[in-house]
Parts: sequence; C-alpha cells; structure tokens
Amino acid sequence: MTHTVAKPDDERAWQAVLARDRKFDGRFVTGVLSTGIYCRPSCSARHPRRENVRFFAEPAEAERAGLRACLRCRPNDVSRDEEAVTRALAMLDEVGDTAPGLAELAETVGYSPTHFQRVFKRAVGLSPAEYGRARRFERAGEALSGGASVTEAIHEAGFSAPSRFYESSAERLGMAPSAWRDGGGGVRIHWAVVATTLGRMLVAATDRGVCRLSFDEDREDLAARFPKAELIEGGEDFARLLEDVVAAVEQPEHSQRIPLDVQGTAFQQTVWRELQRIPAGETRTYAQIAAAVGKPGAVRAAGSANGANNVAVLIPCHRVIRSDGAIGGYAYGEAIKRELLRRENAQTKL
Ligand SMILES: [Zn+2]
Repeated sequence: MTHTVAKPDDERAWQAVLARDRKFDGRFVTGVLSTGIYCRPSCSARHPRRENVRFFAEPAEAERAGLRACLRCRPNDVSRDEEAVTRALAMLDEVGDTAPGLAELAETVGYSPTHFQRVFKRAVGLSPAEYGRARRFERAGEALSGGASVTEAIHEAGFSAPSRFYESSAERLGMAPSAWRDGGGGVRIHWAVVATTLGRMLVAATDRGVCRLSFDEDREDLAARFPKAELIEGGEDFARLLEDVVAAVEQPEHSQRIPLDVQGTAFQQTVWRELQRIPAGETRTYAQIAAAVGKPGAVRAAGSANGANNVAVLIPCHRVIRSDGAIGGYAYGEAIKRELLRRENAQTKL
C-alpha cells in the first residue's frame, strides 16, 4: 500500500486546471513558465495558455525549476490544510451514531479523499478512521466510568454491533471493556521493580505490552491503579520484556520498539504518538506538540496529556520542555528528566 498519490497525466491535469477542480489540489501544481509562477489546480487567476504550462508533482519541484508560489492561491501554504483538518476534527468530535467517512469528510472540506487522508494523518498522527475510532472509545470510556453497562456503553458510543467493539478494543486497548471498567478485573499484570542508574524503576505489563513504567513506585502504587487485576511479580516472558525495557532506558540509542498497552482519550493517544516521534537527543515545547497534533490552541491540554503518560521513557514525555527553554515539570522529578535528556544528548553527539 502506498501513501503517495500519483500526479495525473498532463491531459487530465489540464482538464482539472480548466475546471478549477479543488479535488486535485495537493496532487500537482501548475507551473506557468511565462510568468515564473506556480499555482494550485483550483487557482482563481486567469488560465494560462496551455503551451506555457508545465505540471509538477509538488511545490518543491516547481521551486527547484525556478518558479515562485502564486500569491493568490498560495500553493505552498499549509493554512488551508490546517483549516480543513480542524473542520474534519470538529465533524469527527460530534457525537453521533455514524461517524462521517473519509469520502464525506474530504467532500466537505473540498479535497480528494486520498489527498485529505494524507493531510489529516500528517497533522493529527492518525487517519480520520483511526481518529473516529479513538473518539468512539473515548465516549465508551466515559459511559463505562459513568456506570453504564458494556452494552449501553457500546450503543452510546455509536458502535454498530457489540462484536465490532470487542474486535477493535482488543487491538487498541489491550483490556476488554469490562476489565477496563473494572480496574483491571480478570487481567494479569506482571511487574517488577529493578534498580537502574536512574533509581528504582517499576515496570508492569499485560500480555499485550507495558502498561506502566515509573520511578520510585511499588506494588501498592500499581495495585491502586489496577485494583482488580491479578498482579504477578516476575514471570518468564515478562523477564525478557523487562530486559528490553531496561536496555531502552539505559541505552536510548539502542531503543527498540517495545509493545505498549496504554489507555487514554483520543487526544491523549494522539499526543503520545507525537511524543514517540521525537527522536532521542531532541526536544519539543508543549506549544510545538499542540501544533503538531493539529490543535495549536490546546497547549495546556497537550501539557496535561503529556503528564497523563503512564509509560515513562518509552513514551518520551521527558523530551517536552517549556517554550522559554526551562526544563519544565516531570512526574518523577526534574533530576531524572535532566539526566534522561543529558544522556540522550551525549549519545547523539557521539
Ligand atoms: Zn494561483
């Protein structure tokens, strides 16, 4: 499966230009050699003569050919994308029985489905379908914690059939919804506290992945989080996972993909995914994270989502600092955050 959408052939592209067809925006730009300008296919400026036109797959390519962006249609302007994504997020956030599909979203914001899928995913970190699913889970979670039965919760959340809920919840949440409501009832969590160079580290995992990584915590802290789970100290498979986790913490340059079993709202999950994209040795500000998840106004919410992270280090919330350059808070103390950043810096400078 490929995520790039091929530029249409020249004849089709020219037809799109003549029709000012917005569905083709993002699939190519129109270079006008006589004026040295390039445009979106939908540009409202007068049409150039066909013989002066050359089509480019993207703005960068047109610029390499010496062309400048049109000031009217702003073909290299991302603000239109941002607007489209914001509108789509609002549509997906509305509670309803049927979430709008990709085709409907794209149509509403005036993009082609494939192009909009790319734009949305780049901005939000999830596809529209994934985001819609995450929102439904979020609503199911609200209903469940409000005391509704699983069936009621499923209907409230807008799932078409209970089997779909279980199907996708298994892949997404790790725990069945009844267990989730139940403080981990029926779930086995293996755990250990190990000594690291950062101090005592608690690692806990379900059979799906790490559900808690923290410092200076104990069995009691874990039991408070998952009061009904069966807590098992150690375990054979767990020992292997634990080794990988310790290696990832002690030597961030060797960090590998470790399975996680984390739960959060759609927004939190989006923020956490974004955090995982920050390479070791780099930092972002809360404002940058908010912007990266397509909600530039939600700096404080991004900060809270950062703080709600259950799996320290593996979801690197320590790589987020304050806009003024100050190190900012950390659930386990500034010293650990500083040390994590220090060793990551050291490693990237080698
Ligand atoms: Zn233009």
